[in-house]
Amino acid sequence: MWIEKAAARAATLWLASGLLIASGIARAEYPEKPVTLVVPFVAGGPSDKIARDVAESMRKTLGTTVVVENSAGAGGTIGTARVARASPDGYTLLVHHIGLATAPALYKKLGYKTTDLAFLGLINEAPSTLIGKPTLPPNNFQELRNFIAANGGKLNLANAGVGSASHLCSLLLQRTLKSDMTFVPYKGTAPAMSDLMGGQVDLMCEQATNSTPQIEAKKVKAYGVTSPERSTVPALAAIPTLSEAGLPGFHFNVWHGLYAPAGTPAVVLDKINTALREALKDAALIKRQEALGIAVVSDDRLSPAGHKKFFDDEASGWTNVIRQAGIQPE
Ligand code: ASP
Repeated sequence: MWIEKAAARAATLWLASGLLIASGIARAEYPEKPVTLVVPFVAGGPSDKIARDVAESMRKTLGTTVVVENSAGAGGTIGTARVARASPDGYTLLVHHIGLATAPALYKKLGYKTTDLAFLGLINEAPSTLIGKPTLPPNNFQELRNFIAANGGKLNLANAGVGSASHLCSLLLQRTLKSDMTFVPYKGTAPAMSDLMGGQVDLMCEQATNSTPQIEAKKVKAYGVTSPERSTVPALAAIPTLSEAGLPGFHFNVWHGLYAPAGTPAVVLDKINTALREALKDAALIKRQEALGIAVVSDDRLSPAGHKKFFDDEASGWTNVIRQAGIQPE
């Protein structure tokens, strides 16, 4: 009896030390190969741009290449499902935005559950801008409002698919203006921006990441920013907030975060979170983002718990907005 107990205790100790060694090895070895950062939109758009900027800096801390993979379609839900199903080993990560919090309210069926993902930290926050093709007649928001009232459904509003940031902003706009403009979905706002500049579509609500350079170059017309205050970036400073231009309380903030498949070992998550924190302290990265009117996150939302709390608040707030607007899941 005593011998059996002693043997069992020895076996438990052996198992525990084995686990400790295993986690020690994980800590010592990760990463042993390149890390893939999935962006659920096409290259050249706001999500791709922040992911590439962060990947470059994370590489320095992780000591391995961080490869950005664009897995676009269905408003970001295809790339998200790819990461949710990936092996939880820290080698496949996701950069996604506010759309991750709203997708469950907008889609009847998703290829993943939010609980399939682990939170790693919030990255940035960007205002959006309401922009139009260069030949659109209105020259300010008031004129645009009248133009929309007169032309309604004939106007095309580009977006990056159901649940994308540009789509959410457009939903808010439609609802506030009580208009019925036609939505034109793309796999990301990079191709939508080309079509807007070329005059194939009329309007878009696009993150400052992508619109600031085009506004500055006068390749699009700018009608308003979605932040509560005007932007201090020179190219955007003269543009009124939509709230001051006639839509009181119209605020829309796009944020991006970093995720791993749920079940990724804590030691690996820690290493990735450290690399993210380091990346977001990079003065050159902060400068590049700020030049576009974007704030890099430096508060408690950079922790997995702070990120999750913020995410849950956003998800419930937006789910209410979507339900109250009577928007049915597709
Ligand atoms: N984030 C998307 C992109 O990078 C745009 C959007 O969500 O509106 O294309």
